[in-house]
Amino acid sequence: MFIDVEKLKLDKLLTRHYDFTVNLPQIIVGQEKVAFNGPIKVVADATFTQKDVLVEGKITARAQVICHCCLEQFILDIETPLMERFVTTAQYNLLTEKEQQDGDVNWYQNGQINLEPLIEQALYLALPMRAVCKENCQGLCPRCGCNLNLNKCECKDQEIDPRLAVLQQLLKN
Ligand SMILES: [Zn+2]
Ligand SMILES: [Zn+2]
Repeated sequence: MFIDVEKLKLDKLLTRHYDFTVNLPQIIVGQEKVAFNGPIKVVADATFTQKDVLVEGKITARAQVICHCCLEQFILDIETPLMERFVTTAQYNLLTEKEQQDGDVNWYQNGQINLEPLIEQALYLALPMRAVCKENCQGLCPRCGCNLNLNKCECKDQEIDPRLAVLQQLLKN
């Protein structure tokens, strides 16, 4: 997952195309660990512009996430852009604090850009906080907890009017 800036410099203003696959261990999102099905694919163009290195591309991955409605695991296809600017550590240290914090610039050292942390971050941002398996997910029955996508429970039919429930209670007494 490294971009060799020395090689890029030889290309002058030409852009080099990269095609990576990475095996990321799971990433942590909130309380959950999210694992990926198969490798994460990264296609990117890197350009050395004399003053910085621009990396533009996209990341595709298949995340194993939990549906927030029915609590079943499902595969979520993720496609997210990767767009980052890199300068050397020396150049980075010359930036004002504000410029550093604006966040669209990263540093690299020893002529190598390590994309892995940025890929992890981009995936993290691309994962929804509340994933839902399908648009019409029926969720869980609030009474018996069965998955309404898979089962039909009797709870709905048994639901009685609260006014009738009071009557019923009176009759019992
Ligand atoms: Zn669901
Ligand atoms: Zn039920």
